[in-house]
Amino acid sequence: MDDEIIEVETLTVACDGGNGPLGHPNVYLHLDDASHDVVCPYCSRHFVLKEGADVAARH
Ligand SMILES: [Zn+2]
Repeated sequence: MDDEIIEVETLTVACDGGNGPLGHPNVYLHLDDASHDVVCPYCSRHFVLKEGADVAARH
């Protein structure tokens, strides 16, 4: 399985699997409030919040 990690600056990200064989319809994913990461259920790409990102939803 591909362990690609993608840094993002918002708690909501759009994923379409990129242009590779794992491509899929565009979906929106919400990063976990506590761990600040999410794994796409379609292509298993791992999105993590970029260090220092200014997140409005921060508690
Ligand atoms: Zn995906």
